[in-house]
Amino acid sequence: MDQEHLDKWKQLEHDFDHAVPEKVTRDVAYYRTILSNVIMIGAPNEDWILVDAGIKRYQDRILHACEERYGTKPPVAIILTHGHFDHTGSAKKLADHWQVPIYIHEKEMDYVTGKKAYPPGDPTVGGGMISLLSSLFPTKPEHLEGYVTALPMDGSIPELKGWHYIETPGHTPGHISLFRDEDRILIAGDAISTEKPESSLAVFFPIQHVYGPPAYFTQDWMEAETSVKKLANLEPDYVIAGHGLPMQGETMKQELKKLADNFINQAIPKHKRH
Ligand SMILES: [Zn+2]
Ligand SMILES: [Zn+2]
Repeated sequence: MDQEHLDKWKQLEHDFDHAVPEKVTRDVAYYRTILSNVIMIGAPNEDWILVDAGIKRYQDRILHACEERYGTKPPVAIILTHGHFDHTGSAKKLADHWQVPIYIHEKEMDYVTGKKAYPPGDPTVGGGMISLLSSLFPTKPEHLEGYVTALPMDGSIPELKGWHYIETPGHTPGHISLFRDEDRILIAGDAISTEKPESSLAVFFPIQHVYGPPAYFTQDWMEAETSVKKLANLEPDYVIAGHGLPMQGETMKQELKKLADNFINQAIPKHKRH
């Protein structure tokens, strides 16, 4: 990393230390950790749920952001979109603090209970952000045995009325997205991204566009395409992805549709298209 990036990075770290959630709608907010978003569903003074849990050692900042919004009232549960380290890193510490259950799709269970490892990241797809942050990456998958429970198979989310989850495999086998019909709000995890994940500059200068899943860790591109089409068919009004700033409005809708229609050209790295 050169000096200019390093200075920016330090500034960014400082900003993140302030740990304040940003409101998206009346009862949905997010907090952008250094690498990925955590999402809070529930208005202040209501029951609420945390979606995803950032990287390791981020529990204090996540907790601070949550307390800004909910005081010391714990969530009723933590839901994980998938088991990658940048979404599950602080889950155990937070669950311990709050004494709440963690839920994940059944097909992710083996990965978060030490039975299976995700395939190693694919360095041939480019990795600005990845190489930048590689020192933060864990060597072993997060182990949540005893904390984590499989979600019901019917698409319902425990303790969360009005929402359901959609299976969006590809990035990982049991990846899920969350959707609420009432206001068409979509929490997409890594099924799509609203920053170019392979660019280190995206971390410093976030420009909102709809992109495919983070390529470095995506396991099955065919499934990933089907999942993006599924999400586009929902015609969401708001999108909060695991990486990048939330989006709403016409540009997002058009870009999501375009991504679904041209997934092979837009999302799949050139040498992986066959
Ligand atoms: Zn991921
Ligand atoms: Zn991610």
